[in-house]
Amino acid sequence: MKLVTIKTFSYDHETLIYEPKFQSEGIPYFLKDQKTVAIDPLVSNAIGGIKLQVGVEDEERARALVSEIEKNNSYTELSAVITVDGQQFEKTLDECPNCESEDVYMYKQSVLEGLFRPFQKRVRYCNSCSNKW
Ligand SMILES: [Zn+2]
Repeated sequence: MKLVTIKTFSYDHETLIYEPKFQSEGIPYFLKDQKTVAIDPLVSNAIGGIKLQVGVEDEERARALVSEIEKNNSYTELSAVITVDGQQFEKTLDECPNCESEDVYMYKQSVLEGLFRPFQKRVRYCNSCSNKW
């Protein structure tokens, strides 16, 4: 099978957003040099990072999926993130129990926090009355 590289990553954890999507879309993929980078992140630059590769026959589907993932990422990144007391909060659809405003944000976990503490309760913040709960 001929493989094409459709994306490269500098760090091992960056692939974590992509892998589940490829799995759920049923696109077979291969992460070249992932083990090397996981063991020694410093070599990542030297070898050109981790390559996300798919078979030629899946290239079009895979590229579409990657751009969709990136679009969604930059959407959450750019759209509704506010900084409160030095922490980032992202827009959520909750309602404030204090003033019933829907201008409510939820503590934004980093990728690593999401991995290690996925079920941690995330603090909500109301942008209207500054209520936190
Ligand atoms: Zn409120």
